[in-house]
Amino acid sequence: MSDDKYKQRMQRKKDHIDARIEQANIDKGIIVLLTGNGKGKSSSSLGMVCRALGYDMKIGIAKFLKGVQDTGEDAFLAKQPNVQTAFMKTGFTWDTQDKEYDTAMAIETWQKAQDYLEDESIDLVVLDELTYMISYKYLDEQMILDTLNNRPKYQHVVITGRAASQSLIDIADTVSEIKDIKHAFRADIRAQKGIDL
Ligand code: ATP
Ligand code: MG
Repeated sequence: MSDDKYKQRMQRKKDHIDARIEQANIDKGIIVLLTGNGKGKSSSSLGMVCRALGYDMKIGIAKFLKGVQDTGEDAFLAKQPNVQTAFMKTGFTWDTQDKEYDTAMAIETWQKAQDYLEDESIDLVVLDELTYMISYKYLDEQMILDTLNNRPKYQHVVITGRAASQSLIDIADTVSEIKDIKHAFRADIRAQKGIDL
């Protein structure tokens, strides 16, 4: 391709992108849903937390299904004055195998999440591993959808977890499915600090 032709093509591309950017002029709180079987959902949510912290935004994180091990981000977030956290006091369901207890813990954590979702001073709410609370029927889906719909207009929400329900997909503005192509764990490599926890 000649230099001129290349220039023309790039200019057309730039014009098109500029026009699209011009058109996207709405500001509102958005819901980002990160689902799928691949690694990178919760860590991506923390990437957005990091971005928001850079603007001194206020953040609420509710972690459903907190693992047994403490993570690097738990230690980091505990030092952030702009971050509030609520951790569900239970491991994975196959550890406890006590549905009543797990449900009670899910409801307790949801109540804190609900406080964040009603608080106009909180700019970003992360609902980590929320999808399981719906699929295991620990929490009522309609109650979650109503709270999300009634949250402050400019508040952003990030939801993570595998197998998101259709209603969550419908209510979200941005949905990404992370595909599992390969995972180190299947080559017997244990969870690594700074990468997996
Ligand atoms: P991360 O927190 O690393 O972003 P995630 O939120 O996408 O992962 P989860 O299902 O919440 O995935 O699992 C959390 C932990 O399990 C992490 O240590 C992660 O590396 C590991 N993991 C994620 N996906 C897989 C997989 N497909 N196979 C094995 N382990 C996985
Ligand atoms: Mg996760």
